[in-house]
Amino acid sequence: MKGKPTADNLHPHTGKILLHERERRHGHRGCVVWLTGLSASGKSTIATELERELFRRGCQPFILDGDSVRQGLCSDLDFSERDRHENIRRVGEVARLFADAGFICVSAFISPHRADRDLVRNLMPPGTFIEVFVNAPLAVCEERDPKGLYAKARRHKIKDFTGISAPYEPPLKPEIELHTDRLTVMQAVEKILKVLEKKCRITSKSGKPAGKVPGAIRWADW
Ligand code: ADP
Repeated sequence: MKGKPTADNLHPHTGKILLHERERRHGHRGCVVWLTGLSASGKSTIATELERELFRRGCQPFILDGDSVRQGLCSDLDFSERDRHENIRRVGEVARLFADAGFICVSAFISPHRADRDLVRNLMPPGTFIEVFVNAPLAVCEERDPKGLYAKARRHKIKDFTGISAPYEPPLKPEIELHTDRLTVMQAVEKILKVLEKKCRITSKSGKPAGKVPGAIRWADW
């Protein structure tokens, strides 16, 4: 649900370019690919390779990543429950703006709370929020520990660390689930691309538009 604006006398500006005109120019539907999962489950790694492959296919992707957003837009927020909610609310609004502009916004955030992810889903037109559960067991994430964060959390040097001292609520019905302890990075990326071919009408690997895929969105339907 959208929050009620605090200010009065707001008159949102309506431009003269329709979403479908932007999407036609980009050659695909605007959407949000929302990667959620424990730290070190593989969100950023997969997002980076996905963005590269989408770009190679002529799409307009852009990554929103937890660590970079927290250095700017959300630099005033910490990892308390309240600030985590606010972090995802802000990022969700930004992701929606990217999708409104016809981009494929690839978001890589732990986003541990189901309600926060659903809030972002509800901002979006139906079918344009693609929740991807990047699912690796805690033990595997802890073993990988690329940034040494689990080791610090175990030594109580980081408080409210998801999976150790803060909860993670797995998605109940994600559009995609990736078991990254069993898939390679590129297998995970391929699985996302297959869904995007149908849902966002990105071009297939061979360069052909995926318009003939059963159930694909036709321009006329937009
Ligand atoms: P997150 O963004 O979820 O915190 P990162 O992508 O930063 O996770 O780190 C995940 C680590 O796991 C990286 O070092 C990556 O190379 C490694 N890894 C091993 N197998 C996979 C896989 N199948 N998918 C994604 N990452 C993997």
